[in-house]
Amino acid sequence: ERLVSGEVLGEETALEPSLRPQYLHEYIGQDKIKENLKVFIEAAKLREETLDHVLLYGPPGLGKTTLAVIIANEMGVKLRATSGPALERPGDLAALLTSLEPGDVLFIDEIHRLPRAVEEVLYPAMEDYCLDIAIGKGPDARTLRLDLPPFTLVGATTRAGALSAPLRDRFGVISRLEYYHVDQLAQIIERAAAILQIGIEREAALELARRARGTPRIANRLLRRVRDFAQVRGEGGITLPLAVEALERLQVDRLGLDQIDHKLLSAMIEKFAGGPVGLETLAAVIGEEAQTIEEVYEPYLMQIGLLQRTPRGRVVTPAAYTHFEMEVPKR
Ligand code: ADP
Repeated sequence: ERLVSGEVLGEETALEPSLRPQYLHEYIGQDKIKENLKVFIEAAKLREETLDHVLLYGPPGLGKTTLAVIIANEMGVKLRATSGPALERPGDLAALLTSLEPGDVLFIDEIHRLPRAVEEVLYPAMEDYCLDIAIGKGPDARTLRLDLPPFTLVGATTRAGALSAPLRDRFGVISRLEYYHVDQLAQIIERAAAILQIGIEREAALELARRARGTPRIANRLLRRVRDFAQVRGEGGITLPLAVEALERLQVDRLGLDQIDHKLLSAMIEKFAGGPVGLETLAAVIGEEAQTIEEVYEPYLMQIGLLQRTPRGRVVTPAAYTHFEMEVPKR
């Protein structure tokens, strides 16, 4: 498991709730989404209606689940959470929908992974708050319409492109979460440190923030690891030198790159003169799956401008050479 992964890692779920913002004013960054949600929530409350269905998309760890929690809290309703792969059969979703109370928020994480048959149950539920149940077979078959309480569906996905058009079209609000800026991540770290009751210097928070790959979940994880380090050392708070030392031990570099990123970039530089190199070739050389490289390793490297995809293959940019303190080759 990678320290710098945006996904939830093994032991983390139990710890998460305490750090998770519960209301909009505690949620740092994503200003555009926050502003919009604020208006929609206020308007829905004024009209005493349920909030329109909301689709949130973006990389893991950016705060999609947190927003679902916040929407429920701000609306003053309950949240029911599930995920695409957990809803295996239409009946699983039907059971969940019929157990909702009016106005509740139903959160479906990884909604792009809903089985087709389950997705079809969702269409009339989203559109008309009803459930179509097939009864009998052959010539006697009928469908029975069952009314559902009005509810708000909040869907989250890392891959908006993998969503079917009919499903996407049924969301009234579609928002894309962006990677966070360093100063926003530093604020998130300072807030988390206060909750965890550990002192942290501003400069140390900024240093952690720079290495957190634009992702709050990684920022909080780095904070916890560095806190362990400070406590084992018997030091009260987290100072800049302590943070730098701990992060070096954890092998997270100045840009938040880990050993896997280093392996990928240095293979490209040393074995392929910086590229272009085909994805499959690269995968074989570093011993990773092509899909993992494409979906997990590359996005951040592209985001920070160290790697580019070109029609002829992957290339490293001059910035990658500079990051490794190597001379940029003349082409
Ligand atoms: P996602 O659902 O997109 O994978 P989460 O909502 O679970 O991400 O966020 C991961 C963790 O990061 C949360 O538990 C929370 O502690 C923290 N977090 C996310 N977004 C914010 C934010 N805007 N402000 C403060 N903390 C945040």
